[in-house]
This record gives sequence, C-alpha cells and structure tokens, in this order.
Amino acid sequence: MRYTRGNYEAFYQPLPKEGIESKRVWLVGAGLSSMAAAGFLIRDAGMPGENITILEASGVDGGALDGAGNAITGWLLRGGREMENHFECLWDLYRSVPSLENEGSSVLDDFYRINREDPNFSYTRSTKNRGEDGGTDHKMTLGDIGGKDLVDLVLALPEDLYDKKISDVVGKHFFKSNFWLYWRTMFAFEEWHSALEMKLYMQRFIHHIGGISDFSALKFTTYNQYESLVLPLKKWLQSNGVRFQNDTPVTDLQFDIAENKKSVRSISWLRDGKEETKELTDDDYVIFTNGSLVENSAWGDMDTPPPFDPEVKEGGSWYLWRKIAAQDPSFGNPDNFCTRTDESTWESATITVTDPEIRKYIEKIAKRATNTGHTVTGGIVTAQDSGWLLSWTINRQPQFINQPDDQTVVWFYGLFPNAVGDYVKKPMRECTGREIAREWLYHLGVPLDRIDDLADNGTITLPCMMPFITSLFLTRNGTDRPKVVPEAVTNFAFIGQFCETYRDTVFTTEYSVRTAMEAVYTLFDIDRGVPEVFGSIFDVRNLMKSAYYTRDGKPAPILRPLRKHIEGNELGRLLAQYGVIEAVGEVPPPIGAVAPKGG
Ligand SMILES: Cc1cc2nc3c(=O)[nH]c(=O)nc-3n(C[C@H](O)[C@H](O)[C@H](O)COP(=O)(O)OP(=O)(O)OC[C@H]3O[C@@H](n4cnc5c(N)ncnc54)[C@H](O)[C@@H]3O)c2cc1C
Repeated sequence: MRYTRGNYEAFYQPLPKEGIESKRVWLVGAGLSSMAAAGFLIRDAGMPGENITILEASGVDGGALDGAGNAITGWLLRGGREMENHFECLWDLYRSVPSLENEGSSVLDDFYRINREDPNFSYTRSTKNRGEDGGTDHKMTLGDIGGKDLVDLVLALPEDLYDKKISDVVGKHFFKSNFWLYWRTMFAFEEWHSALEMKLYMQRFIHHIGGISDFSALKFTTYNQYESLVLPLKKWLQSNGVRFQNDTPVTDLQFDIAENKKSVRSISWLRDGKEETKELTDDDYVIFTNGSLVENSAWGDMDTPPPFDPEVKEGGSWYLWRKIAAQDPSFGNPDNFCTRTDESTWESATITVTDPEIRKYIEKIAKRATNTGHTVTGGIVTAQDSGWLLSWTINRQPQFINQPDDQTVVWFYGLFPNAVGDYVKKPMRECTGREIAREWLYHLGVPLDRIDDLADNGTITLPCMMPFITSLFLTRNGTDRPKVVPEAVTNFAFIGQFCETYRDTVFTTEYSVRTAMEAVYTLFDIDRGVPEVFGSIFDVRNLMKSAYYTRDGKPAPILRPLRKHIEGNELGRLLAQYGVIEAVGEVPPPIGAVAPKGG
C-alpha cells in the first residue's frame, strides 16, 4: 500500500486481481468501515460481491451512522456528522455509489450540489444569558500565551505526547479562550483527552481554521446519515451480491501465530443462540472493526433517563478485540479504550419539536426559518454558560425522508453529563427526556412560565447514553492501537476508529473509510495509491492563514534583523497578503485557491 495525491492516480481503475474469484472475505460488523471495505473489494480488487459476507451483531446495519424512529414516538439520532471536502477516501468511495435521490448521480454528486447551493455557516455560534448572542464575534482570544501553547502543541513530536492529556501541555490562557470553546464543543474534546489526537486534529484541519468560529468549514448530507450514506451504500453492495448476515455476533477469531506468519484460522459466531465455528484457509480473509464508539449506547424516553452500561460483553467488538489481543502483542490494547468510561461518556438527545411556538425561539437564535429544506442553525449552537455545556443543532429539515412538515428534529448534546443543570437542577445523565427538553428551552430563552408545558407537550425528547463515545480520544501510546495490517499478518486486518494510520484523525467517517481502503489495498496488493491525508499542514498559505486567525488578525511583530529578508520581495508580499504582517503600501491580492485573510 502506498499513498498518493493529485489526479493522476485518482482516476485510475486497477485491473481485477488475478485469482481474486477464489478468495473470500468475512467482514466483522456492518458499520461504515466494513461496508466501505466491501465497496473497495468490489471496485478496486475486482472481487465478486458473492465472496463477501458482512457479519453484524445487531439487526440494523450502519453502526454509529444511525437514523431511526418515526413521527409518533419521535425520531432518533445518536449523532450528526460534520463533514468536509477533504475526506479524500470517503469521497473516493462515494463517487462510485449511485444516489438514491437523483438517478444518474452519485452520492458525492448529491452532496456536492446541496453544499454548493446551500453552503453551511452559522449566524449564532453560541449563546449566553438564555438566548442572547454569546458575543464571541469570530474571535479566538488565545492571546500570546495561549497562541504559543497551540503552536508548541502542533510542533511537538508525536512520541512526546504519548499518554499525555491536553491539560498536560496547555495552560489556563488556552482553556479560557474562545478557540477552546469552539474547538471542544465542535469536536467533543475534553481537557483530559489525548494531547496527541488534539495535535493531529490541528494539523489535519488547519485549512479550516478560519471557519471554525461560524462553521463555514463544514458540510452536511441532505438527510440523516443513515438515509443519505448507509442506505445507498448498502443497496449498491447488495446489488453487487454482497451478503449481509445480521443478528450474528462474532465471538472468536483464532490465529496461528508464528514469528513470520500470523494467520487467522477460524471464526466463530452466534446464530440463533448457538455457536458456529468455521475453519479458514489461506483463501479466507477476515477484516474486523475493532472497538466501537457506540457500543452499549442506550436510549431513554420522555419519562426515563437512559441506562448507563459500561460492561464489556460477549458479542460486542471490545470483547472480541480482547480475545484477539490476547493472542499477539501487535494486536493492540483494547483495555486502554474500553475501561475508562468516566473519561469517555457523554449523552445526546434527539428532540422532535411538534409545537410551532418553540420554532419562534429557535429562529430568533438561528436567524433563519426552520423548515425550508435549507441550513437552519448551520452547526451547533453552544449555551456557553450552561452547566452541562450543552449544544444543539438543527440540520436541513426534513432530516428524515418521512418526517412531516410540522416537525423539526433537533440534535442536542451535553459535554458534561455529570454536571448539574441550570433549570433542571440535576446532572444530565439522571434526566428524563422531558427534563432535558426543559433545560434546552431554558437556554433558548423561552419564558419561565412556558418551559414545562412546551417541553412536555411540544416535544418528544429521547436521550441516548454513550459510555464509549469519546473512547477514541483517550490518552494512548504508540502501540495501544494496532496497525491496520500488523507485521507478518497474512489474511487479517483491523479497520475503524481504533487502529493506526498515518496523519488522520479519529471520530470521523473518513477514518473508517481510510482504514478500510488501506486494509483492502494492503491485503490484496492493489496497484493504486490510497489518497494521502490532505496536506494542508504542508501548505504555507494555510500556515499564514492560521497565524492570522489565531492572532485575531493582529499583525506579528517583525524583528529588525529579519526585516531586510522580507522587504521588497515575494515573501514579504505573501506575509502581508495573508495579514501575518502589516502591509506597507498597496498589496495586490494573491493568486490561487487558498484565500487570504477573511477568505
Ligand atoms: C454522536 C456521534 C457523532 C459523530 N460525529 C461525527 C462527525 O461530526 N463527523 C464524522 O465524520 N464522524 C462523526 N462520527 C463518527 C462516525 O459516525 C463513526 O466514526 C463511524 O460511523 C464509525 O463506523 P465504524 O464502522 O468504524 O464503526 P461502528 O459504526 O461502531 O460499527 C461497528 C459495527 O460492528 C458491529 N459489531 C460490534 N461487535 C460485533 C461483533 N462481535 N460481531 C459482529 N458485529 C459486531 C456493531 O453492531 C456495529 O454495527 C460521530 C459518531 C457519533 C456516534
């Protein structure tokens, strides 16, 4: 497997691999990772779909990419996906997946069009004092000390950040900044999370630095991701013959481990409560989504808080990963991620708004109408003075294809589920759906005497507890996550959010698709490059832009000895064009795709 960039290989279609028709692939889990792997096997390895079986523990495919419920009992979304144009592997896949919405188009075509016609940005990034604008005014407020912390983090060597928390490497100025408010609520980072992952994020998304204060960095699917991403992919795979075997939890994988050859030799699963074991040959391959951020996630309802269940159980992916890890040290350390739920839990809720009175308060903050089919809040709105550090968002409505016009679906989450609320004086994790709706309406600015009635009779609020949701952000070292294909392994790969790939960042759909692509390209030696993680960190224009934004537009002082090196030359002009230094005289606009300050 090798990385590539640019168009040359992007449009290349590899020839089917010789002998591919005699190979079989078993994919454990029917989340995005496995489905993407199946897509690459068919398209790029030339494998007949009939040779691919996806074994899924539950009755539903898509894993974390959910979207369920109905207009009567309420809609269900554990999360919504912030996406971007530089999800290179994901778009490489979805360019080939036919759209279910427009005949003749791909899913990528649909996504591109809707985000061109209806670009995302928010008018209100945060609120305070119950519905007033939070006043962050696009500013980062890092100051010189917080800014230096950030630069030091980006420049740190990865190995120096092993097992370190963000709070180990940055100080109070950083944590008090608007930058941290934007950042942690946008990506769900906590102070105790991995400094290494934070650094990788900064590098990975540096081209979006100017767009994090109003979410102009983001793009969204038309509907929820189950309907917009999972269904078309599944349909395409099934039309190519891929077999989905639901309600079949895989319980064991046994390996033959020799120094120079490690091969998976049997797979066991439960079907109708009975264990079945299949012996595997050199022609059989197993690709396993190890670890899951939504395992044990559980719903509550209007009258019941969601149950919290941190136990690792047979039939799940943590359990299976543990069994595998016990067989070889290169298979990673699942316990680093699945035993620290006090550091990895948060809670979301889906609020189906049924009373038009609530829309008035939403629209006042969003500064847009709710049910027009277009962007509403344009990303999350954070109530910055809320105890739960709550955020809520309304994506394009309807968010579900069958959602009636008189309903608005809101996604809500609290980064601090253990903290006490401001209206409901309880931790979020102890709250019923109606109590969560009350807390939300309080921070929307609904008059106190209307809150309870509107929450109870104008919403269907369904909370969801996710004990492992940020397990992928926990501090780690260089070996806690296995490589996609560990050394000497012949017929097995790890995919998903808990295996290692170069420069990409977890908690993204892209990471699942990238690891799937790398697994297929490695195991089957596909003669085409995997698109490298977008190299914006290596583009000096993005570095200058980020300097401009993180300094809130304040020009950098230039020491006298440096001046003569930038005066009257291209370097000085570039720095001035991007607002890094004060312009002297007239500066022509820059040429190229990466816009200067403000762009
Ligand atoms: C609340 C939330 C917000 C998110 N926000 C974003 C975002 O803004 N942007 C973004 O790009 N991404 C986001 N993501 C992340 C993205 O959705 C996930 O990373 C991705 O969908 C994970 O897919 P996966 O296939 O790797 O794993 P999963 O979706 O976890 O799939 C694993 C599958 O394996 C099955 N399984 C587990 N154990 C077994 C077993 N033993 N046998 C058989 N099957 C098994 C599970 O049932 C599941 O279907 C978010 C996710 C959530 C939950």
